[in-house]
Amino acid sequence: MSFPKVKVLEESDETVALQLEGVDRSYANAIRRFCISEVPAMAIDDIVILENSSVLYDEILAHRLGMIPLKTDLERYVLPEKCDCGSPLGCQKCRVLLVLDASAHEKPRTVMSGDLVSEDRDIKPVSPNIPVVKLAVGQSVKLEAYARLGRAKEHAKWQPATVAVLTEGKTDGTYLLKVESSGSMPAKDIVTKAIETLETKFKEMRSEVGGKIDEVKQD
Ligand SMILES: [Zn+2]
Repeated sequence: MSFPKVKVLEESDETVALQLEGVDRSYANAIRRFCISEVPAMAIDDIVILENSSVLYDEILAHRLGMIPLKTDLERYVLPEKCDCGSPLGCQKCRVLLVLDASAHEKPRTVMSGDLVSEDRDIKPVSPNIPVVKLAVGQSVKLEAYARLGRAKEHAKWQPATVAVLTEGKTDGTYLLKVESSGSMPAKDIVTKAIETLETKFKEMRSEVGGKIDEVKQD
């Protein structure tokens, strides 16, 4: 068996293309799948509506806000289920508050993702130009939105990569992995985190198998 070799063919914040050599196809494919379903991303998950006189129902408004990709920082935030606060309300390490307070006074206006004001300047919509709701004169929307980390296996809104494809490379035994980020984090970080998560799963499996073997020995 040869050592895995990785060559970066293309890299920007949004996209990374890697050539993998000396890895099994199933392992390469697991990395691809983990980029989509296991790497956490931030998304709005809970909303407290203080006022909504727009034409959108509260639930639709909540759904729309949930689908806005947010900048994600995996160093500073943890998944709520892994946070030591153990609180359903969350804490500084597992949730971020974003406030929306928008009204149409003299003329109709469209509320945009950029109107959300975050308590953490690093955790905000990837783009300020995503339309959320149109307001007619006299209408307003006031709400508190709580973002947290989650995984796409729970809901698609937590998907950090919009695209992750694996194809055969030009030379035998090589594969090309191309990943595009939603903008939540650099594409390269998604791949790194996917590999890290995969390794952790293997480690957990290894210690579990080890434990089982010890049990058998003791019997
Ligand atoms: Zn917490």
